[in-house]
Amino acid sequence: MSSKPRPVSESNRKCRKGAVAAAALLVFVLAALIFWLHGVYVERENRHRHQAERELQSINQLQLQAMVGWRQQSLRDAGMLVEDTLLAEALGRWLGEGDVEARERVRERLRTLEELGHYTAVHFVDPQGKVRLSSRPGGSGPGIERVPATEHHALQGALSTAVPVMSDPVSDPVFAFPFAGVFAPLYDGVRAIGAVWLVQDLRSELLPLVEPWPTPSQTARSSIVWREGQAARYLNAPRGVRVEVLQYAYPLDAAPTVVTQALEGMRGVFYARDELGREVMAMASPVFGTGWLLVSAVEVAEVFAGVRTRELFALSLPVSLLLLAAAGVFVVMLRRAAHRERELMQALQRNLWWLESAQQAAAIGHFAIDPKRGRIQLSALCRQIYGVDEENLDLAAWVELIDPADRERVTAVAAQLARGEEVKRLQYRIHPADAPHTRRWVEVWSKSMQEGDEGERRVIGVVQDISVRKAVEAELAEHRVRLEAQLRLDPLTGVANRRALDESAGFQLALAVRGGTPLGLLMIDVDHFKAFNDYYGHPAGDQCLKAVAEALQARVGRAGDLVARYGGEEFAVLLPLSDGNEALALGRRLCAVVEALQLPHAASPTAPCVTISIGVAWLAPDASVGVQVRAAGESCAGVHAEGEREGGALPPLAQRLFEEADAALYEAKRLGRNRAILFAAPEPGGVSAPILPRSSAAEAVSQA
Ligand code: GH3
Ligand code: MG
Ligand code: MG
Repeated sequence: MSSKPRPVSESNRKCRKGAVAAAALLVFVLAALIFWLHGVYVERENRHRHQAERELQSINQLQLQAMVGWRQQSLRDAGMLVEDTLLAEALGRWLGEGDVEARERVRERLRTLEELGHYTAVHFVDPQGKVRLSSRPGGSGPGIERVPATEHHALQGALSTAVPVMSDPVSDPVFAFPFAGVFAPLYDGVRAIGAVWLVQDLRSELLPLVEPWPTPSQTARSSIVWREGQAARYLNAPRGVRVEVLQYAYPLDAAPTVVTQALEGMRGVFYARDELGREVMAMASPVFGTGWLLVSAVEVAEVFAGVRTRELFALSLPVSLLLLAAAGVFVVMLRRAAHRERELMQALQRNLWWLESAQQAAAIGHFAIDPKRGRIQLSALCRQIYGVDEENLDLAAWVELIDPADRERVTAVAAQLARGEEVKRLQYRIHPADAPHTRRWVEVWSKSMQEGDEGERRVIGVVQDISVRKAVEAELAEHRVRLEAQLRLDPLTGVANRRALDESAGFQLALAVRGGTPLGLLMIDVDHFKAFNDYYGHPAGDQCLKAVAEALQARVGRAGDLVARYGGEEFAVLLPLSDGNEALALGRRLCAVVEALQLPHAASPTAPCVTISIGVAWLAPDASVGVQVRAAGESCAGVHAEGEREGGALPPLAQRLFEEADAALYEAKRLGRNRAILFAAPEPGGVSAPILPRSSAAEAVSQA
């Protein structure tokens, strides 16, 4: 039909191996993919880093150029003033001659410069730093009469070198804002007459060039810094520090920062920590012609935040897809496995149902014993047979149901099976739990089984209720006994038949020989029975035979004595432990008993009623009995010739005994019937050690 089904354990093992191989392959592919993606990620991150560095560099350079441009513009403006001869002439006339008109022309020039160059204030100062003229009348205010001391150095530098000089940014009470001044030295030929002081508010002129970041960023910032003694001075405070312009300084011996490293010479793009300890990507550039540095920085976290998220998302996509695909395959496999399991379960249930039905039809239950846990699993029919409800029963409780007479035998066999012995068949009695006073016979076929090579050993088996079979068997046995008994009874008279006589004779003879005990035998024949039949009819003859048999049976009552119908109207009586005397005495009594029945026999020529004649023989209990019997047989040979016995199956000794009794019976008939005659040996010292000599036979006849 179909191929041989694979054992479940083997199938499971293959499934497990397949799953492990698939999982290992998936892990390997995932590891390879992650390794590859990691490489791609690192490469992309580096690319992004370079791009970010380039971008930072560009912004820093742009801001630097703007700064330099602003400074150069100021210096250029100052340079043009130095070159302006009209201005120098007007100044000369104003200062030398007190020409007010010239002074106003100078003022006009200064005002034009202030407006075009976006200067906060433009003053003309003398070489000593005293403010002599402002772009606007009273514009310098009451406090600005002299150039602050911090600016003197620049003023003197400009006057001595004859080129414009820009001072470092400074915060001074003369102005309400941080400022930087440019001094344009002026001469009247050879003598310095003063300088034009161009003042710029750094908040509005310089910081807008470096503070706005051209690309969207939360953390990017550029600072203008320079060394001031043992500290770094900031024009604009670093990110997250809320102080006014020029009010922030960072000690150089404190923890290194982007700015301290830049001041120590770090150039280009580098990585460091900012003033608040955050890791930043930075770029430091010196501002040409000054001691300033433009330091631009952006937080590393921000630089990579976007790219990391984006790249991780992009790179995790294939991994996610692979995992999704693997999960899909896994789900399909699970569904297939579940489907297969469902099919197997259905097949199993169908098989179980068939098995149960077949077992129900055959009234066979099954069970499984788990010796290790001391439990027994019972099928529905099994539970019905044992009269229990629980499917899983304690072994001890199950043993309790076995009839005490069989319990030891059953538990011994169960123990043998638990050790792994072969199949066992057992029949025993149980008292069902639901009817403990009844008794059932069960037949059990059981076998020891082991799951796999090292699995647990179990005893499984089938059980059948054979109570009905047992009852039938018992009935049959009884019937057989009855039949066998009937086989040994004569149906007409109810006494033993010839078969029983032969068997008993053989048996008793053996006993007598072995035990050295006597054995007597009477051969009885109804007198003139043919005539009785002829006269009264066969049915009456039968009744007569029954009456005679009953009378004989009633008088022969000793244990072991046997009355049997020998055949026709002849009976035999076997008398164990009786010698010739005793047998003869009984024979005589029996003759009298039958005569006493007074069964009318009108056709008898010798008596008015039914009579019997008896031949008596016996085996003497000495070792020479065989010889004696043989001798007796020889002596009677002539007499017995006409009455050959039928039973050839008897041992020779028994046969001789019957022949002697026959001979004696013949003698009794010959002497006139209705008498018992003991067989007598023809010679002295011969057969049967006759108690009565032949002469005494006549006496016996007369007594009868
Ligand atoms: P004897 O005194 O010499 O024994 O004469 P007998 O007539 O009894 O002897 P015989 O052997 O000539 O006759 C036996 C008869 O017994 C013959 C037969 O009809 C009769 N008989 C044998 N068996 C039965 C039986 O079962 N029922 C009846 N009614 N008669 C039987
Ligand atoms: Mg006869
Ligand atoms: Mg007869």
